[in-house]
Amino acid sequence: MAKDNQFVSQIADIEADFPQWYTDVVLKTKLVDYGPVKGTMVIRPYGYAIWENIRRELDDRFKAAGVENAYFPLLIPMSFMTKEAEHVEGFAPEVAVVTHAGGAKLEEPLVVRPTSETIIGHMMGKWVESWRDLPLRQNQWCNVMRWEKTTRPFLRTSEFLWQEGHGVFESGEEAESETLSMLALYREFAKNVLCMPVLTGRKTEKEKFAGAVATFGMEAMMHDGKSLQSGTTHYMGQNFAKAFNIQFTGKDGALDYGYTMSYGVSTRLIGALIMTHGDARGLVLPPPVAPVQVVIVPIAQKKEGVLEACAALKARLQKAGMRVKVDDTDNSPGWKFNEWEMKGVPVRIELGPRDIENGKMTVFRRDTLEKSDGYLLSEAEERVAELLGEISAALYAKAEARMKERIVNASSLEELLRGVDGGNFVRAGWCGERACEDKVKEFAQATARVFDEEHNDMPVCLCCGKKAAHTVFFARAY
Ligand code: ZN
Repeated sequence: MAKDNQFVSQIADIEADFPQWYTDVVLKTKLVDYGPVKGTMVIRPYGYAIWENIRRELDDRFKAAGVENAYFPLLIPMSFMTKEAEHVEGFAPEVAVVTHAGGAKLEEPLVVRPTSETIIGHMMGKWVESWRDLPLRQNQWCNVMRWEKTTRPFLRTSEFLWQEGHGVFESGEEAESETLSMLALYREFAKNVLCMPVLTGRKTEKEKFAGAVATFGMEAMMHDGKSLQSGTTHYMGQNFAKAFNIQFTGKDGALDYGYTMSYGVSTRLIGALIMTHGDARGLVLPPPVAPVQVVIVPIAQKKEGVLEACAALKARLQKAGMRVKVDDTDNSPGWKFNEWEMKGVPVRIELGPRDIENGKMTVFRRDTLEKSDGYLLSEAEERVAELLGEISAALYAKAEARMKERIVNASSLEELLRGVDGGNFVRAGWCGERACEDKVKEFAQATARVFDEEHNDMPVCLCCGKKAAHTVFFARAY
């Protein structure tokens, strides 16, 4: 028994010390390890397989929407970064700069991309000449580097993986509409692939992307009630088009600047799903992104026919499109149960001589920890596929219920503080003044996450008492 429980005892208590729980889980399930350079991470195969599933699901969606993939260089001339004033100011503290290469000092220093608006703007400026070249909609999957002071695996690291989509349009309306439709795409993806409910909406001037006219965010509630910004889309107006000379001849023959937008999600999403679904035993992975969806644990595996039956079941489930593994290592079944539970595999099938004789299998679901031996082996494909679907729906429903329960209204700073101290998102009116936004941060260490655009019903600013311009979701954030 001591041996069987050792995995659980390796992980800090999720309620008592959530930050340590997170660190224990990401390291002990071998999602990630620390890189030799401070602030960098190594994404290990189990973590990278989650990223590959995220990437495939998103990539399919982008392509279905008509976006093409391309790849732009890692290094950006320093002069590009200074062309858009707000952009350079926003990113200057975080950029890593290459000053020497090939054994000599470079004439112009090169920036390791913190994001690619500038270099993509430059290239699009070369490619766009007439309205016939528009819209131009491209995406790249790449790494970026932002020199961060405090780092945590997946949540904030100096180098991370992401996708950045960029579009140029003839009109501001079209670019804005693409900005919102990509936000809707992210929201659908979060729901159906990550099983994660999100709040989406516009961000304040203070929280927007450096150089954008408007930024929209997707925020998710983590187990501890803090918010994790999980994706953003930006409408740039003509700011970058003017800085990078993206000009086109319109249908009327007149020369105009294009309207640009961009959107991105990163390996942060892995942190988001860990902190949304995880429990005392470790990871709980949503079936659509789980590297292993079904683990088959042989019982009395040395007995004749057991491993063969497991292999045959694996082949059938794989053929039906599932990601399946048989754990035929020498460890005890109890050890295997604990290990795969910690690693968050959605479904475990236990198969022993008696099950095989009765034509049945024992099925355990990770999200509810329920075990059932009523499954017929002959119906394995249909029943397990059905169960994976049920698990996805249940994970979403559970996270959604928690989020709804933990959104509270506040009409004063004191109420807001009580709300965020209690692990809630707080809805409150805001006048639109930066001073009031700063005061919220100072008073409660909470920030404006997104506007509640569906229900703008809070009448007065929680800070100054003047008429509210927006209803805002405030929260402490990662
Ligand atoms: Zn105010």
